[in-house]
Amino acid sequence: MIKLYDAVIIGSGPGGFNAALMLAKGGFKVALLEGEDLGGTCLNRGCIPKEGLYRIAKEAYSLRKRGFEVKLNFEKALKYVRTRISQIRANGEFLLKREGVDLIKGLGVLIDEETVKVGKNLYLRGKHIILACGSKPKEKGVSPEDILTGKISPKGRILIEGSGASACELSFILSTFGFDVYLKVEGRLLKDYPVDEEMVEKLEEELEACGVKFVDSLVEADLHIKATGRVPRACKESFPLLEFDHEGYVKVDEFMRTNLEEVYAVGDITKPMGASHAIAKAKSASQSIMGFYIPYKPEFVPVVICSALEFGYIGCYDPRYRKIEKTLNANTKSFVNGRKGRITLQVDEEGKICYFSILGEDISEALNLISFTMNNPLWDDYLFRMPYTHPSLCEYFGDIATDYFVNAL
Ligand SMILES: Cc1cc2nc3c(=O)[nH]c(=O)nc-3n(C[C@H](O)[C@H](O)[C@H](O)COP(=O)(O)OP(=O)(O)OC[C@H]3O[C@@H](n4cnc5c(N)ncnc54)[C@H](O)[C@@H]3O)c2cc1C
Repeated sequence: MIKLYDAVIIGSGPGGFNAALMLAKGGFKVALLEGEDLGGTCLNRGCIPKEGLYRIAKEAYSLRKRGFEVKLNFEKALKYVRTRISQIRANGEFLLKREGVDLIKGLGVLIDEETVKVGKNLYLRGKHIILACGSKPKEKGVSPEDILTGKISPKGRILIEGSGASACELSFILSTFGFDVYLKVEGRLLKDYPVDEEMVEKLEEELEACGVKFVDSLVEADLHIKATGRVPRACKESFPLLEFDHEGYVKVDEFMRTNLEEVYAVGDITKPMGASHAIAKAKSASQSIMGFYIPYKPEFVPVVICSALEFGYIGCYDPRYRKIEKTLNANTKSFVNGRKGRITLQVDEEGKICYFSILGEDISEALNLISFTMNNPLWDDYLFRMPYTHPSLCEYFGDIATDYFVNAL
């Protein structure tokens, strides 16, 4: 059977799901194809279960640091989080239905520039196709996803191998839940992230303070978790018509167009990985399909790592530029709650923010305020004049802008 659509999307993670909703809201007839659970890695075994467990761990850690006793139960916490995830999945299905998106179960194969084959005899023909097949763990073994889905239960002494976001996050969560956690880092923590080393050192100190032990070699453990990175879930064998780069990512232009006309690729099958990036790419692809050519700009996408402290950044640290930094000690909201942290900022020769990083608590919301001042030479005037709620963490953006603004007078 052949079904005709304006757009056919493979994969319902943050890339595919958001593209489907945006196009459907724009009046397009959309098919969304998913081989497993709606929501992909992000909702089912990545960002969202991690976020749920992280908030519980963080609240407990924060109270313990101020002298209160808090007991946590991992199984109970995971059960709560998994129930919420089922509800989000059901809400997602409702939203798709409301916007008229056909959610189709099955694995898709791209057989030509406008046709996706599902199973033996279903053909989905689209004027536009978006591939959002996501990623999978690079190595075999127990992955962070196995812990977050409950497939493997954490126990006793746990060795986590890896130096990226998942290693930072899971080591904090499991340690706070009372497990004996060893972290084997290759090189240094967050070595593949374009961030300033000093922030990472502070984060390492805080991880150690919460009980995570850094080790140089593999140690005996009851459970060995490999958080050693991910690889794209599309390859030349399954998508022979597409062009890939040497690392296995689908090659795309700034509007997420592949080498095939009207075939787009978004999310983790294109570089860089991460759900914030997947959503930004999905926006760019669906807007291009709708005729608004808004390029995807990775340097404006904020990234947050939720660990013993939250660490967020936008842009790339560049040692050529002066680093303007401040601790959060003078921020009353931060200090009265026994928190610590710091802000780092770099400004390029045109006076625009080219790198911003912040270490502290609850920064994932605050960081969004900075993303729209990126690429704006009037950023300091903007942040300086803005009224802020008091007490709030964002007041700090006003302070750092004041310093910069007053120094420039
Ligand atoms: C433990 C963990 C924590 C994370 N935390 C964060 C975080 O806090 N913030 C953040 O920004 N990122 C985070 N990430 C990364 C984030 O999950 C991914 O970047 C994001 O899910 C990628 O989205 P995507 O749309 O590309 O694909 P995915 O979410 O991987 O979804 C792809 C979907 O496509 C389906 N699919 C693939 N091939 C086919 C096919 N041929 N036919 C039909 N369906 C197919 C798959 O079944 C899957 O459901 C985390 C990842 C992990 C593992």
